[in-house]
Amino acid sequence: MMRDLSCHPELLSLNTATVRKQAPLDAIIEACVARGIGLIDPWRDQVQAVGLEKIARQIRDAGVKLSGYCRGGFFTAIDAVGLAAALDDNRRAIDEAKTLGSPCLVLVVGALPGALTGAPAYRDIGLARAQVRDGIAASLDYARSVGMPLAIEPLHPMQAADRACVNTLEQALDLCDALDPGRTGALGVALDAYHVWWDPKLAGQIARAGADRLLAYHVCDWLVPTRDLLNDRGMMGDGVIELKKLRAMVEAAGYRGPVEVELFSDAWWSKPMADVLDTCIERFKSVA
Ligand code: ZN
Repeated sequence: MMRDLSCHPELLSLNTATVRKQAPLDAIIEACVARGIGLIDPWRDQVQAVGLEKIARQIRDAGVKLSGYCRGGFFTAIDAVGLAAALDDNRRAIDEAKTLGSPCLVLVVGALPGALTGAPAYRDIGLARAQVRDGIAASLDYARSVGMPLAIEPLHPMQAADRACVNTLEQALDLCDALDPGRTGALGVALDAYHVWWDPKLAGQIARAGADRLLAYHVCDWLVPTRDLLNDRGMMGDGVIELKKLRAMVEAAGYRGPVEVELFSDAWWSKPMADVLDTCIERFKSVA
């Protein structure tokens, strides 16, 4: 049976990037608590801006839990020094996730190094994918040793050059099977409706993933037209993704975790935080 979210407000998690332009993280957490949102997925820069210890204390005192921590990844580089620096940074991200009690670290794996700032250092996406595989393998050793599951988030192929060269659920699960063939729970995926809704293989791959690979589920909506490749995500119900159908597949595969609302949107960033959070709650209940 698919869960009725209107009866389960405790399943709503707020990815705190959704209101990142409105307020610092401590104020976002306060606003969540005031509305009964007890789950968040914060970003590293938001945590750092307030202070890791301060946020750790705040969520402990308020009884807030994490549904994930954003993000590790960006494993690709032009040389050995860059590759090692990426591994160091992922180690720090794993430690922070541990400090905050996150159930997983979300990985945006990286793509052509330098592309994000407009100057890709190479164009070999096959090389990028090999570096990603090696980077996840290396990080997985450390993540296992401290008990922090890694969740690979496949991104829509429009971001294959600059953010993530893992672009389908199938590709992410192939990596999981190669690096964690025993399905130990140490490696899985963060499934984001925005990135995967279009995929003709989606249903079969969600079933293949199963509960032990599905570590997180993110929702928003795909607007028509989409005006910006990064910052024009829609509120659930405002676009074309059949969110309930998608969640039915995810839950049929055994997923019982939170439903995380994650928008990057210039339109929603320009509204008051209270309005955005209230709308997130309402749409979570009615259309997610
Ligand atoms: Zn996401």
